[in-house]
Order: sequence, then C-alpha cells, then structure tokens
Amino acid sequence: MSGEFQAICDIGEDTLVICDNCGYATNIEVCECPTKDILNEEVEVEKELLYTPNVGTIQDLYNQYEISPDSTVKTLIYKVDDKFYAFLIRGDRELNETKIMKLFKTQEVIMATPEEDEAITHAKVGFAGPIDLDIPVVIDYEVLSMKNFLVGANKTDYHYIHVNLRDFSYDMVADIRNICESDSCPHCGGNLHFKKGIEVGNTFKLGTKYSEALGLYYADENNQLRPVVMGCYGIGVARILAAYVEQHHDDNGIIFTKELSPYDVSIVIVNMKDQEQVSLAEKIYEELHGNGISVLLDNRDLRVGVKFKDMDLIGIPVRITVGRKASEGIVEYKERENNEVIEIQSNKIINSIIHS
Ligand SMILES: [Zn+2]
Repeated sequence: MSGEFQAICDIGEDTLVICDNCGYATNIEVCECPTKDILNEEVEVEKELLYTPNVGTIQDLYNQYEISPDSTVKTLIYKVDDKFYAFLIRGDRELNETKIMKLFKTQEVIMATPEEDEAITHAKVGFAGPIDLDIPVVIDYEVLSMKNFLVGANKTDYHYIHVNLRDFSYDMVADIRNICESDSCPHCGGNLHFKKGIEVGNTFKLGTKYSEALGLYYADENNQLRPVVMGCYGIGVARILAAYVEQHHDDNGIIFTKELSPYDVSIVIVNMKDQEQVSLAEKIYEELHGNGISVLLDNRDLRVGVKFKDMDLIGIPVRITVGRKASEGIVEYKERENNEVIEIQSNKIINSIIHS
C-alpha cells in the first residue's frame, strides 16, 4: 500500500480533503471527484455567437455579462507526450494535472505556451473552445450534466453561449478536476472540508519492479522461484520537527513535549555571583544527569530575564530556577506549557522528576 502521512498544519504546502462523516482523508492531488450523474432537465437551446471584447477571465464575463462561472466551460490546452489535447472543465473549477498524468500514464503534461495556444485556436489566448477544434477533446464528468453553457469561440473577442454537448465532439470523459469543498464525499456523500498539511512520512509499494531487475527471488512452498515484493518507507525527520513547532508554540517560542524536546529539564541560575545558587544548581544538575535525565544548565552570566526568554524560546518542558532561596534548598519549578510557578524543596523535585 502506498500512502502519505500528513501533519495538519496551516503553513503546509499540501491541500488535504477530509470527510466529516466517514473520516476519508486524502491529498487533493489524488482525491477522486463524485461522478454520479446529475439529472439536468434544462431545455437545450440553440448556440449563439456573443461578442465579448475586453474579456480576459471568467470573472470579467460575470462582471460584464452576468454569466455565472458555473454555467461556463473552460478549454485548457496541454501538451501530453508531445501531443496536444483540449481539457474541458466547468469555469470555476481547477484542472488536476496529476489526474491527467495518471490518465495518460505519463509524467509529460505541460500547459501549451501562448504561441502554441494561438496556433491551435487561431485566436488570442482566452478564447479557446471545443467547437471546430482539431485536437482531441477530453471532458470532465461534471461537464456531462451541463446544458446551455458558455465556451470560447476560437475567435478573438468571441464566445459561444447556449452551447450543449451535441455542438461539438469529444474523445474521452474522465475525472480531470480538483475536488472542491462544495462537493460531497466520493465515498459516503458527506460534507468535505480542506486543511493544509505537511507530508511527514510515506510508504511506497514498489512491487516486484526492482526485485525482478536485481534478480531478488525466493523459493515458495513448491520450490518455485518468485520475485520478492518490495516496499519502502520514509520519515521526514526535519519536517516532523517543523510541523511540530508550527502546531505547538506560543508568542514566546516552542512548547516541546518530553518525547521531542532536546532536553528533559532546564536549570536557570538567577545570580551567577551567588555561590550558594551555583552550587545547588550544579548539585541538581549532577543528580538528574546521573539518573539519565538530560539537562540544560544555563550558567551564563546574564540577566535572569534574558535566560528565561531563551528557555521559553527553546521550549524545554520543565524549568527549574535556582534563586534567592537556594540557601534553604528551595527552587522554583515551572512547566513550559503553563505559567504556574511552584516553590519546592530541591530534593523533592529531583525525586519527582526521576520517578515520573
Ligand atoms: Zn465520507
């Protein structure tokens, strides 16, 4: 099984599609769109050529002619393996290049350049349409149920309105667009929502491609040689850290959990000139360290405010501050994720940390 492991995170580059109802979750690149036939009983009318100067975008059409984007079909010309194709999707949808790569079993899917586009349509970019176009046409499933829609006329400054499927020929119907939040879940019909994600791990099923090439075989129970089925797995260590920090921080810095923190405990000495403070801090350090706890001791001769700020920034989950009450063996205990400061006997806190 091939799969992605995604950490939900606003700065992520991937768009994840998540179903509220059945828990289906996938990357938008591979999310199938619902292909259920929608009954459209609108009466088909005759197509008409419409003069549309100064129209460059679907939004211009809406602003100037009040033609709603969902009753338009855009024609996008792409070069697939050195051959041009026109892809038709509803005007307010996005073409999904990954789906086209899968459909044609190729990695070579490139949008036509403006020059290529103009040579094919004999019109300026923005006026491409399927009528009398002499390259193969692929239409999205959704276009199948549309009626009386607008398309480019392959003539500069003109569109056709009231176009229907009978007005042009097409070679293929396929799922070629990105799913939208307004679509329903392709599995259960539930509501979808989008989230941003960072891919932090993945698994790939390689099958027998490499084992056959490398001659990696095993003998089965009948002593028949069979290729080993291979898989590979990846964990993005740096990405996990980046995603974690994005998910767990406040205005002062990182908030690490014990599992991810570079140190378990930090110790801050308030006044480096006070020998009692220094000795107690070093004693706590040694005891914790000796018991397998990783400790960062801040013994820099700096103002305590600066040290606190740095510790908050680094995000170590527990901070022990050794200050004025060092002579009584009392220290301050604070967890990074809350602001509560507790005064406690140093022996007590050492024990509690070692046994937690
Ligand atoms: Zn669902």
